[in-house]
Parts: sequence; structure tokens; C-alpha cells
Amino acid sequence: MFDTHELGRRPGALQRLSRTVEAPVDLGIDGVIGVPQGSPVELDLRLESVMEGVLVTGTARASAEGECVRCLEPLRQDVVADFQEMFSYPDTDDRGHRKAAADDDAEDDEDIMPLEDGMFDLEPVLRDAVVLALPMQPVCREDCAGLCAECGANLNENPDHHHDAVDIRWAALQGLAGSLGTDEKDNMSGAEAGVDEKQEK
Ligand SMILES: [Zn+2]
Ligand SMILES: [Zn+2]
Repeated sequence: MFDTHELGRRPGALQRLSRTVEAPVDLGIDGVIGVPQGSPVELDLRLESVMEGVLVTGTARASAEGECVRCLEPLRQDVVADFQEMFSYPDTDDRGHRKAAADDDAEDDEDIMPLEDGMFDLEPVLRDAVVLALPMQPVCREDCAGLCAECGANLNENPDHHHDAVDIRWAALQGLAGSLGTDEKDNMSGAEAGVDEKQEK
């Protein structure tokens, strides 16, 4: 939560502040990449008092952790997220008028970030901005070679790694045969033998 009391309600008043906060839970893209909970997030904020509330413009800087989608190695990546959000004084809409009955502006409520007793909650704004700034498909580096599709070897560590094209197909077939196991093979030949016996009768 941030306090706007120092800023005051006089339109045009400006306040800049820098603060380092601990990352809230789930700051990122679930299961892909994110800023670990509790790690530092540097915030540079510009608060501007306007008629209907406080306009907050800012930048967040943090370090995100995830996994390369190509080679599956852990990766760490700096994230810089810009955001701007209007926090409105209670009981007024964005034109400064008194709000109508609560059930009339249910849709508007989703867009309006409230100022409560001069305080605003930056967390949802921060979360949206960081998610937008993060890659959906993070890679450890742009030219990451990824893993061998046949055997899973890391091609970054083994740049000369390759399989002969014909050998790859044989290896796949051999792998398939091996996975069936001896018992299943015996069952199959037994079934075939049974069919043969019936046909003979
Ligand atoms: Zn990679
Ligand atoms: Zn391979």
C-alpha cells in the first residue's frame, strides 16, 4: 500500500518516489517464469494529483526466474515493467460525479482502482505489468540450440551431437520393440498359434 497524503489533493501536485518492495506471491506467469516471492522489486513512481484522484506512472525492475522452453535449463532474466494507473477518490466516477447506486456501476467498478483513505494498492497493477513484460516462451539465450529430439542431449553442451538419419529410425523401432517386453511377445505368438489351431479344425 502506498500513501498519497504527502501529495495532497491539490490538482497538479507531483511527487516522485523510489522504493524497493518484496515481490508478492505469483508475480509472473504461472509455471513459466516469474519473480520469486519476497525477492526485491525496485519501484520508481510518479504520483500526480488530478481532479478525480491520483495518477500513478511508474517502472518496476526485478529479476525473474524460470526455465528455458528449449533446453529446460533454469534461467534468470531481468524484467522491466512500465505501468500507469488512475486511482480514484471514493464516491466519484471518472468525471468527478457522485456514483449512482452500487448495482448500476458494477461494470465500472472493475476498471476503477480506488483510493482508500488516501492509500492505494499497487499490487494488481504491478502484477499485470510484470506479466505483460515477461516472455511467454522464455529462452536462456536467443540462439539456444535446445535438446536433441531423439535422445534429449543438451545441444548447447554438445554442439557436434547428431544421429545418422537412418540410425534414428532404427533406434526408434528398436526402442518400441524393447518396450513391449518378452512376456507380451510370448502372448502374441501364443494367440497366433491358437488362431492357427482353430483354422485347422
Ligand atoms: Zn536454453
Ligand atoms: Zn541425440
